[in-house]
Amino acid sequence: MSERVVILGAGESGTGAALLAKQKGFDVFVSDQGPIKDKYKTELLDSNILFEENLHSEEKILNASFIIKSPGIPYKTEIIKKAKAASISIIDEIEFASLYTDAKIIAITGTNGKTTTTLLTYHLMKEAGFNVALAGNVGFSMARQVATQKFDWYVLEMSSFQLDGIKTFKPEIGILLNITPDHLDRYEYLLDNYINSKFQLIQNMGPEQHFIYYVNDPIIEREVTKRTLIPKQIPVSLSPSSKAPVHFDGEKMDFRLKENFRIAQSETTLKGPHNLINTMSAVSAVFIAGIPLNRIQSGLKTFKNAPHRLELVASINGVEFVNDSKATNVDSVVYGLGSYEKSLIWIAGGVDKGNDYNLIKDEVKKKVKVLICLGKDNTKLRKAFDDVVKEIYETQSVTDLVRHALQVAKAGDVVLLSPACASFDLFKNYEDRGDQFRKAVLDLKKEVEGQHS
Ligand code: ADP
Repeated sequence: MSERVVILGAGESGTGAALLAKQKGFDVFVSDQGPIKDKYKTELLDSNILFEENLHSEEKILNASFIIKSPGIPYKTEIIKKAKAASISIIDEIEFASLYTDAKIIAITGTNGKTTTTLLTYHLMKEAGFNVALAGNVGFSMARQVATQKFDWYVLEMSSFQLDGIKTFKPEIGILLNITPDHLDRYEYLLDNYINSKFQLIQNMGPEQHFIYYVNDPIIEREVTKRTLIPKQIPVSLSPSSKAPVHFDGEKMDFRLKENFRIAQSETTLKGPHNLINTMSAVSAVFIAGIPLNRIQSGLKTFKNAPHRLELVASINGVEFVNDSKATNVDSVVYGLGSYEKSLIWIAGGVDKGNDYNLIKDEVKKKVKVLICLGKDNTKLRKAFDDVVKEIYETQSVTDLVRHALQVAKAGDVVLLSPACASFDLFKNYEDRGDQFRKAVLDLKKEVEGQHS
């Protein structure tokens, strides 16, 4: 009889894992506590994979040899606790997929910047003609791609939830961008648990593998001195006086790898100090992977980041409107604000996840002339910034917001949607918030230009 694998959660990763497990001859059962999307149901049915939705039947789950758990399901869930008590091994889809491929892996993690760095790394490899796939938290699951295609390289965006389910996973190159408190509800409110989860990235690496990390991050800096690190280390730094082999020298990004070279940020399509970190990390990774410098340079010029990350939507009467809706915590707003020298109309607000606004108070005082609060309850924002900005305007309408922003802005100003908060009070998610903002800006642009013509 074939070995029984139970897959909990039938999203992209669960369905991908099910397809791969079926192909490898396992007895596969998929269980989702909620409804399963039609497209995934169709795939499971087409592949003769048994599944259930809107419940977890213990008798069909606790007889598994091992469980592949969707990263969205916390370990404290009842069924997971029972599986653990029954000594059933619980792994992540990436762990499972990596068992069935010889492809080399570049794995990227961090609290912020994962998607940007992952997409950039993938883009540079693809443009250089490598046979490379993109997976993890973005696009199609790795398991699905392992089941259906053959790649030489995978570039993976990995959340801490995915890293929690790693046992033998061994990337060729690992990138750790930063660690700031986030998702602590999933880590018993202990920062150390979250840190350990991020360091799972390198736990199986040998001396031939490479670990690229941002060394100016205080937590990473502390941890790398404390831990025994086996892989080759490539610290990346923003400090001009740094001895790190990859650092920003005040003018250009300076790489001292097998070759020495320098690249200016103006030769890339990304803005802001955070993107220097992301670019230095991605470039180091692809250079180590064997991409020649000239291919890297041409790839950097054609990269287009995913939407909602410092996305320049339009310029109206000389005022730039920028959508950074993905900035859902204060830490990413630090970099958002830091990306502009100009005076700012800053749009923030939504569902606060325990923000400490002191972190950005000085920057706001220096650059922001008007704060527009886009949330249901703006008390905390008002309290934090009442004494540092000239005007605070509250609205729950995106159309009203862009009009007001244009009214108070002068040519040369930037209107920056960088909310520091989740979006669930007024929007479906951060994408919906960013999409509505973009549409309102483009509608306003049409209207204003219509008046001019
Ligand atoms: P993630 O996938 O980790 O959420 P993204 O690339 O989608 O990361 O960026 C999320 C937000 O974090 C954006 O608002 C961006 O401005 C900010 N950000 C990007 N890179 C970094 C970085 N290296 N450090 C801190 N913040 C960053």
